[in-house]
Amino acid sequence: MTPPTPRLEIRNLRRSYGGRAVVDDVSLKILPGQVTCLLGPSGCGKSTTLRMIAGVEKLDGGSIVVDGMVIADADTQIPPERREIGLMFQDFALFPHLSVADNVGFGLKAGSKAERRMRIEELLARVDMLSFVDGYPHQLSGGEQQRVALARALAPRPKIMLMDEPFSGLDNRLRDGIRDETLSILKEQDTAVLLVTHEPDEAMRMADEIALMRNGKIVQQGAPYNVYTRPVDRAAVSFFSDANVLRAEVSGALARTPFGRFLAPGVPDGTLVDIVFRPQHVRIDFDRGGQGPAPTPSDGTAARAVVSRARFMGNESLVEFHLDHDGSALKATVPNVFLPQPGTVLWLTIRRDRCFVFGV
Ligand code: ATP
Repeated sequence: MTPPTPRLEIRNLRRSYGGRAVVDDVSLKILPGQVTCLLGPSGCGKSTTLRMIAGVEKLDGGSIVVDGMVIADADTQIPPERREIGLMFQDFALFPHLSVADNVGFGLKAGSKAERRMRIEELLARVDMLSFVDGYPHQLSGGEQQRVALARALAPRPKIMLMDEPFSGLDNRLRDGIRDETLSILKEQDTAVLLVTHEPDEAMRMADEIALMRNGKIVQQGAPYNVYTRPVDRAAVSFFSDANVLRAEVSGALARTPFGRFLAPGVPDGTLVDIVFRPQHVRIDFDRGGQGPAPTPSDGTAARAVVSRARFMGNESLVEFHLDHDGSALKATVPNVFLPQPGTVLWLTIRRDRCFVFGV
């Protein structure tokens, strides 16, 4: 069976400013109805990638292909307005002289007047802005304007939607609802979506696929679960959550830590490696307290640690420790309320199956 044609494909895209590559050999494929999140820290080249696809930025190399047809490469440059690509950028702007309804209807050319009005009202209802249908942009708050801009971008049912931090101006209470609603509209329309964000939570919530970007390159790509549970390096772990790091020297293909030995197959003796694990994979031995003998853990060797700080975070408590062994700092999250006094001694174990060993 031949694989489905991607709605949007970018191949080996490149862009440099003043000799510095800010987008460096980026390739992606997005199928109809699929959401890919370009996730990475500020300045890594996400927006530049999006702007090249939108056609408002020239590319230095590579190509952009829509439904199998090249729309931009070294020789071709189809103008933005002919790309049938919907845009929702941070610095969206509504037309100030048009009503909310006319803003949303701006890109709607097909259908009768009544049909267009129905579509406008349907979209405004879905972003919870129907009561403002006859208002004007200056009468709306920033978040309300953003919701109208979303409705405007969605209205013509674009084949491809490029979104750059589209929900950043909305307060938390609204954000989840609008985000989910936008997602379901895009899926219903079979739109291929490339969404830029620097927030891992947003990418995990929205994406079918995450492309993790750093210094102009995609360093890892896959389903959110795979990117989260099989990170390519220490920075990829840290990007999604706090990370604990124990540095160890390899000897006989083993790295020795206060939590026991870790396999480091094929790594030469004397090499330094980092054992990296998330705070939720640290366990506290509550029964024994700190003073008793070492527990017999089921999944690792226990290490004694002294509490340096404990904070309640809502669903869980974050407890910071120093390991007795060498004083290295460690964080653990514990469900519910667990706030031991600083100086309390406790035994810790770690989920060894959730640890990653990376070269330094
Ligand atoms: P953010 O999340 O902060 O928006 P980003 O990942 O979207 O960041 P880009 O806006 O793509 O990053 O910028 C990537 C790099 O390219 C940055 O270092 C930026 O300063 C640089 N850059 C972007 N546009 C230009 C330009 N027109 N001229 C020179 N440098 C630029």
